[in-house]
Amino acid sequence: MKKKRNTKQKATVYRVVQSSNDHPTAEKVYERAKKELPSISLGTVYRVLKELVSEGKIKEIIVNKQSHFEKRTDHHHHFICRECGKIEDVETPLCRYTCRKVEKKGYVVEDIEYKFYGLCDKCAQKLNIKEKEVAQV
Ligand SMILES: [Zn+2]
Ligand SMILES: [Zn+2]
Repeated sequence: MKKKRNTKQKATVYRVVQSSNDHPTAEKVYERAKKELPSISLGTVYRVLKELVSEGKIKEIIVNKQSHFEKRTDHHHHFICRECGKIEDVETPLCRYTCRKVEKKGYVVEDIEYKFYGLCDKCAQKLNIKEKEVAQV
């Protein structure tokens, strides 16, 4: 009986991550999972997320010391907006030169993730307007 319930919780958490494109935190996944399964607890969501990550079904990325989860498990990179906190996938080829430089030392590269920090288009526009206003005063 208990096993069955766990399976259902796991399936729900998995589904939530699969239908999210915004790299949600565990808390966000919990909020969404609760709509489907009101009895689910935050602790369960944490545990199930870790399980899914270790099984390679979802990916965990750490941004500003916080864990975010996503359905994509392939190599890709992220842009992070410092204003609104938005995390977006960035498709860019891996820098083979940099990679080879590391491998020359005898190291084995298992995962590569670039993080681009800055402002998204909307925040850049907003801040730009603000700065202009300040400049006029
Ligand atoms: Zn932004
Ligand atoms: Zn991503």
